[in-house]
Amino acid sequence: MAGGSKKQGHEKSDAERLAFIGGAVPGGHGLGQYRNILGIGAHPDDVEIGCGGSLALARKAGSTIHAVSLSRCEDETPSNRKGQREEEFLAASAIIGAKAHLSNIPDREFPENRREVVLVLENLQEELRPDLVFFPSLDDPHQDHNTVAQAVVRTFRRKETLLQYEILRHGSHTFTPTLFVDITATIDTKLRALSAYKSQIESRAYFDEGSFRSLARTRGAQSGCEYAEGFMVQMMYL
Ligand SMILES: [Zn+2]
Repeated sequence: MAGGSKKQGHEKSDAERLAFIGGAVPGGHGLGQYRNILGIGAHPDDVEIGCGGSLALARKAGSTIHAVSLSRCEDETPSNRKGQREEEFLAASAIIGAKAHLSNIPDREFPENRREVVLVLENLQEELRPDLVFFPSLDDPHQDHNTVAQAVVRTFRRKETLLQYEILRHGSHTFTPTLFVDITATIDTKLRALSAYKSQIESRAYFDEGSFRSLARTRGAQSGCEYAEGFMVQMMYL
């Protein structure tokens, strides 16, 4: 492809990208205009996979960012490494600059604990009062992701902007983004945060830098930049 992915003279510099997301473009609705942003996941790695680059970008633009994992996934880890998933989540949250929030919904049993999930989300809404919420796709086939997505739509009805993110894994190929965030300035931060999840790198075929980088490059190619994250708009008010 002519031009490739290298920066050309006409492309935006990092400073220009940050000025844009900070809302400096007249009439623009930049990511940095949101002051209090919540990334909600069922499991410790969901938020970094789905919106880690956008959260890190918003943090650079001065927003307060929160990362939520509703499960600690303790039953998935060997008994001698019980706290590993939690530690990985805390490390990844620190790398993107997010305040970390953890709950104890049992992994893979979210549908049976729907009421608990809603209660946790209601408490987060009350405590943090976010103006932008990232959450898993309503069409995600994983029962935990799907339960969280339904609960988010049910809970956040105070004119928050609601954006669905994609969780790269087996079966995630039907996600069709309608909104893109240029994360060229924070792709390295996102990949560094994901590298904190050693337990997943060891056990999941899709969990490596190459797959995350290539998805971001694909979303970038679809939206005219080097690296991007794609989202589906659930609710937005202009
Ligand atoms: Zn997950």
